Amino acid sequence: MQCELCGKETAKLLTSRIEGVEMQVCEDCAKFGTTIQNYSRMPEVKGGRSRRGGEYPSSSSRPKRPRKDLFDTLKIVVEDYGNIIKQAREKRGQTLKELAKQVGIKESTLHKIERNELEPEEKYVKRLEKELKITLYEGSSEEYEHGTSDKEYTLGDMIKIKKR
Ligand SMILES: [Zn+2]
Repeated sequence: MQCELCGKETAKLLTSRIEGVEMQVCEDCAKFGTTIQNYSRMPEVKGGRSRRGGEYPSSSSRPKRPRKDLFDTLKIVVEDYGNIIKQAREKRGQTLKELAKQVGIKESTLHKIERNELEPEEKYVKRLEKELKITLYEGSSEEYEHGTSDKEYTLGDMIKIKKR
């Protein structure tokens, strides 16, 4: 048997209404029209309701957001990190030498950092932040997370509303 639309030889022809014309077509071409016979047996129509919302994959297959991890590696040190470190250190009455020893940085390196001549490496930033109880990174990941969860809330909330 031959498909009236594409001419392909096929064992199974379906009656499909394509642009108002009933045709005997193969399964592939039946997708272009409204299938009259075997409608319920069309494999393509399974889960037909979810096809309409095809933009949203099911929650189980939704990819995990890598954005938070990405953001963690893209931290930007504040512009006046040197001043912040110096002021925090002086507040504690520590000498440059003492703080350098505590954080594990060379005194000369820390001196450069305090003069804004050298941006501290991430591991040193973390230690300095912890030691001096200061913040050296711009922006807060909390704010970022908040924006993300807002979006998820909207999606999840919509599903809840639909279920009611
Ligand atoms: Zn065909």
